[in-house]
Amino acid sequence: MRRLMLLMMSLASAVAHGWTPEKWFEQPLSPRIANYRIQGTLDWPGKTLQAKEVISWRNAGTKSTRDFPLHLYLNSFKGPQSLFVKESGGRLRGDSLNDPKDSQSWGYCKLRSVRLEGRDLEGHYGKDETVYWVKLPREVNPGETIDVEIAWESRYPRVFARSGWAGHFLMSGQWFPKVGVYQGDRWSCEAYHAFTEFFSDFGTYDVELSMPNLLRLAHTGTAVPYVDVHGKAFDARPDPEHKLHNIWKLHAEDVHDFAWAVMPKGSWAVERQDYRKVQVFYFYQPEHLNSLKRQKDAVEAGLRLSEDWYFRYPYPTLTVVDTPSDASGADGMEYPTFITSSSVTFDPLKLRVPEITAIHEFGHQYFYGMLASNEFEEPWLDEGFNSWFTHKAMEQRYQSLLGSRRFHVETDFLEWAGYWFGPSVDPLTQPGYKDRDWGSYTRVAYSKPTLVLNQLEAILGRPLMQEVMRTYALEMRFKHPTRDDFRRIAERVSGRDLSEFWRDFVEGTDILDFAISKVSAAEVTAGGWMDGPKGPVFTPPQPTSLGHRGIITLVRRGNIIRPLKLRIWLENKKELNLLWDGKERWKTFDETDGIDSPIQSAVLDPDGNYPILKDRFHSAYTAKPAKRGFHYWSQLVWGSITGLLQAGGIG
Ligand SMILES: [Zn+2]
Repeated sequence: MRRLMLLMMSLASAVAHGWTPEKWFEQPLSPRIANYRIQGTLDWPGKTLQAKEVISWRNAGTKSTRDFPLHLYLNSFKGPQSLFVKESGGRLRGDSLNDPKDSQSWGYCKLRSVRLEGRDLEGHYGKDETVYWVKLPREVNPGETIDVEIAWESRYPRVFARSGWAGHFLMSGQWFPKVGVYQGDRWSCEAYHAFTEFFSDFGTYDVELSMPNLLRLAHTGTAVPYVDVHGKAFDARPDPEHKLHNIWKLHAEDVHDFAWAVMPKGSWAVERQDYRKVQVFYFYQPEHLNSLKRQKDAVEAGLRLSEDWYFRYPYPTLTVVDTPSDASGADGMEYPTFITSSSVTFDPLKLRVPEITAIHEFGHQYFYGMLASNEFEEPWLDEGFNSWFTHKAMEQRYQSLLGSRRFHVETDFLEWAGYWFGPSVDPLTQPGYKDRDWGSYTRVAYSKPTLVLNQLEAILGRPLMQEVMRTYALEMRFKHPTRDDFRRIAERVSGRDLSEFWRDFVEGTDILDFAISKVSAAEVTAGGWMDGPKGPVFTPPQPTSLGHRGIITLVRRGNIIRPLKLRIWLENKKELNLLWDGKERWKTFDETDGIDSPIQSAVLDPDGNYPILKDRFHSAYTAKPAKRGFHYWSQLVWGSITGLLQAGGIG
């Protein structure tokens, strides 16, 4: 009933906003290269789906092709022989594979048939069974469109990595055979790896799903209502072939993936809260009401700030799904117009987890969604750019990572801490699946790029940086941008040559790492054998009028060389700004540099020219002892946050 009321409200406002559930845009927003018509029937007790699809695919490359590679992502859960399980060791994002001896822990995507123009097609698997290279019966020329008909069965695993079920919840992601991306004369259709995510072409999706009518369905896109012979509207129609099943008719335009999730109606409530022209649906468990309020606030901040900074969220709908606690593997994930977000029940530190996750997953509607870069090859363009958006939006809306008034934690703290652990392992320019380990992947995909963009902002200044980001987002939406596109646009908009920045921070693995190594004070004394009129006279050494003066030594521990400013405050109330070209490995400043009194405090890079400076612990000094108890609390906060960072990781 509630759903029906929502449906009627949806219809009324849809008409007012000039779209209908089955047609969103008069003019396509994207090139619509890969378009899907899918029909599936869910076997709820068996957690399997029997389905068929037609992929209308256009060759948008520059050469003809006889290949048609299909991602069969769920085969990564077929058994321990998949690349995904081998690379992850059955662990990902803080979750792990369930009992490997239990058949229900595993899943698959089994192709039944692949046909083109009435002919059955053959093919072979790639690096593992997560990609199937179909051989077409003939060359498909650039500009030509083919309709490939596929029948398959999907079995969902117990969820540990994004897709699957737990208890009465099912997250259906990566669930259908999906064509790779053909650019120029090259197919990009990488296996499902443990670290990296996805890459696909834009298109329209028309999806019909038959499932038990006791289930509540959350999904990408809009639901096309069913109107019966009496003119009454329902959100799904009865399935004539399956008792107690309804068939949902779903639609989405200019997206590159489609996801859905179900849970029994009694366990999941749904609420709609519109933001301007966007219908936002929240599916949540009633016990998570407190987190829901926080998520709504964060999603609204995301919608508002992305519009201010990039461009207006163009889709008519957004669905936010609260996953149950035993399905945490499905949590914190992004799909077009559909995100899963985290709830908290125990939160003594008031860490803004629901807010960060909601803003982060929403931000992916831009970086991943509309700016659909190749996540296998350049994961930092979506995760990294989006982590920067998350940091900026969190800073704008909440100022600090903690809800506590007592402690302020910068909103890029997690990224900085992640980078701090090991900044030099892999370069940003390397395909993500080749990174050394999960920790290195998260540093390269999330942490370092956030600091790199902070660094670019420090070089360009906030207004110019905003202009660079806005232009990049606007010009490259729906176009699969690469890092070269970003550099080209950043240089054009800023009028700056960014070669040095690019070489050091994007392509290199070296670090900018300066630190205050030692601060001391000494008496200035004079005496000893002094020259007198009748020869040397001994005077015991004693303090001169100069008295106490300070000494400070800086070190350069990284290989990136930049000039650096040191600001110090002396006991005699003087403030000094000292410059170091940073070329040598260390530098000492003393009374010859004007330090004629002991140093009370000192700070490196006081104007914030180097947000990517690695060691924030040793970039400031104060002679005053820390307040009692502070050390304890800062250790607690630091320990909890880094623990969370290492254990979790948001998608
Ligand atoms: Zn992410």
